[in-house]
Amino acid sequence: MLTAESIKKRAIELGADIVGIGDVNLFEGCDPQRDPRMILPKGKCVIGAGFRVPHGLYALMHSKTQYYNYLTLGVKYQDEERAEIFLLKMAGMIEDEGYDACVQRNVSNLKIKGDKSQNPELFDTYELKYAEAVAPGKPVPDVMMDFGQAAQICGLGRVGASGHVLTREFGPYVRFVFIVTDAPLAADAPFEGDLCDHCGKCADSCPGKAIDENGLDTWQCSVYYRGAGKSNPFMNDAALADEPEKDAILEGSKRFDAVSARAIYPKLKFLPNFSGYVPCLCGKACDYACYQHLKEVGSIGCK
Ligand code: SF4
Ligand code: SF4
Repeated sequence: MLTAESIKKRAIELGADIVGIGDVNLFEGCDPQRDPRMILPKGKCVIGAGFRVPHGLYALMHSKTQYYNYLTLGVKYQDEERAEIFLLKMAGMIEDEGYDACVQRNVSNLKIKGDKSQNPELFDTYELKYAEAVAPGKPVPDVMMDFGQAAQICGLGRVGASGHVLTREFGPYVRFVFIVTDAPLAADAPFEGDLCDHCGKCADSCPGKAIDENGLDTWQCSVYYRGAGKSNPFMNDAALADEPEKDAILEGSKRFDAVSARAIYPKLKFLPNFSGYVPCLCGKACDYACYQHLKEVGSIGCK
C-alpha cells in the first residue's frame, strides 16, 4: 500500500536529499497555467523532491578556478538525468499501485504564455505566446507549475529576495522536481517562516545589480550570468570593445531588457557553450553569498 512514508523512503533511496508532500488544494487561486489541478484534475497531492548541488561547485567558481563542472553537474545533469531517472522510477512505483504520476521536471527553455522572464542558464527561452485554450475553462497549454510555490506548499523551502528557493538543509543549493498524483497521501504542512532575512548580501554580490527591492531581474541576470561584469576572469580588453557603454556594462550599471540583452548575448561567448546551457561566469555570486550568510546566522545546516 502506498503511503506518505513509503513514498518518502523510496524517494530518499532513489537519491532525493529532501522530500515533502503538499496538499493540491493549497494551489487554490493560482494562475490556471500554473495550477497542478489543471495537470491532473483528480490529483490529490504534489510530491516534491530536492537534489542538493555541492557547495564545492560554487566554491570553485568563487575562487575563479573552474566553471564547467557547475554547468554540467550543477545544472545540466541535475535537470536532464538525475531528475528524469528519479521521476520515472518514482512514477513506476506510484502507477504500480494504480494511481497516476504526472512527473514534472524543470522545463528550462519554455515559458508560459504571458511570462516575459528569461532563464539565465540557457541560450534563450521561448514564450508560448501563440498557445490558446482548446475549450472554455481550460488553461492555455503548456501548464507549468511555479516550482517556488510548489516547494513552499510541499514544506521544502521558500523563495528569498534572490528569487531562489532557500531550504533549511542546503540554503539555495537545491534543484527541485515534482509529481502530481491522485494517490491519497498524507500531506505535510507548508514551509513555515522565512529563511530570507533580507540581509541584502545576494544583491550586493551580484556583478550586474540584477537583484533589488523588486526581486530578480532575469534579463539583467542573464547578461551578467554570461560574464558581462568585470569579475569574469575571462574578460579582456578586446571583449565588448565596440560597445560605447563598455565601462557601464563592466560596472553593472547599464540596464538590460529583453531586446538589449539578446543583442549582447553573441558578444558574451567567453567559453564554449554546452548543449544549450550557458557557462555561469558570475559564479552564482548571489547564492554563494546567501549560503555563507545563512550558515553564519545558523539558519541552515547540511545533514
Ligand atoms: S542573501 Fe540575504 S537577502 Fe538574499 S536571499 Fe539570502 S537571506 Fe535573503
Ligand atoms: S549573481 Fe549571477 S545568478 Fe545571481 S543575480 Fe547576479 S547575475 Fe544572476
